Amino acid sequence: MTEQPAILIEGLRKVYGHGDTAVEALKDVHMSVAPGEVVGLIGPSGSGKSTLLKCLGAVIEPTAGRMVLSGQTIFDGADGGWQIPDLRALRRDRIGFIFQAPYLIPFLDVTDNVALLPMLAGQPNAASRTRARELLAALDVAHRAAAQPSELSGGEQQRVSIARALANHPPVVLADEPTAPLDSERALGVVRMLHRMAAQYRSAIIVVTHDEKIIPTFKRIYHIRDGRTVEERGEGRPV
Ligand code: ADP
Ligand code: MG
Repeated sequence: MTEQPAILIEGLRKVYGHGDTAVEALKDVHMSVAPGEVVGLIGPSGSGKSTLLKCLGAVIEPTAGRMVLSGQTIFDGADGGWQIPDLRALRRDRIGFIFQAPYLIPFLDVTDNVALLPMLAGQPNAASRTRARELLAALDVAHRAAAQPSELSGGEQQRVSIARALANHPPVVLADEPTAPLDSERALGVVRMLHRMAAQYRSAIIVVTHDEKIIPTFKRIYHIRDGRTVEERGEGRPV
C-alpha cells in the first residue's frame, strides 16, 4: 500500500492576464510528494517555478487543474476553484515558506521570530517559545536563541527561517531557492537540515534550486520547462 501523498498536483495550469498580454506560465503540471520526502524542482529562469509554489501556497489562484493536500482537495478548476473557505488559515497552518532571503523580523529576537506564527495561530506564548527552542536546537542554532537577526551569519539566518517555516508543523514546506545567497558549505548545511527536518517531522518539502552542489542530494527531481513537469530519479546522495 502506498502512503497518501502530502502533495498531489494534477494538470495544473496558470495564465497571468487576459487577451493579447496573457502569459501561460504553467501549462500542464503534475507532481506527487510523500510525507517526509524532499524533492527538487529545477528549471530555467521564467519556467514557472515560483508560480507553481505560489499556486500551491494559495498565494495566487490557478487557472485550471487540481491540487490535493493530504487527501483534501484544496483547488479544483473543474469544480469552481478553491475548495476551502479560509485560505489564510491554510497558508498559516499547513504551508511553510522558505524564501531566498530569510525575511526575519528585525525587532524580534530569534526565538520570537520562530514563535510568532504559532502565537498568531492561537498557541499560548510559553508553548510557542518552547516549540521554537526545540526547532532551533534541531537546526543547531539553539545557542543563538536570544540573538537579534542582525547578529546572525547568513547561514544562521537561513536556519532560523527554516525553523520558522516548520513552527506550525506544516505538512507542506515550499522553499524557493533557499540556498542562493549562501556559500556552498553553508548551502549544504541548510540542505542537510531540510532533509533531516523532513524525516523528523514528516513534512513534504519542495526545493526550487539551481545549485549544482545540492541537486545530487534529492532522490527525485521535477524538471519544469515551458510550463510542463518531467519527473526524474535523482542520485539521493547523502548530505
Ligand atoms: P521562475 O520562478 O521559474 O523564474 P516564474 O514563475 O516567476 O518563473 O514566471 C513564469 C512566467 O510567468 C514568466 O514568463 C514570468 O514573466 C511570468 N509571470 C510571473 N509572474 C507574473 C505576473 N504577476 N504577471 C504576469 N506574468 C508573470
Ligand atoms: Mg522564481
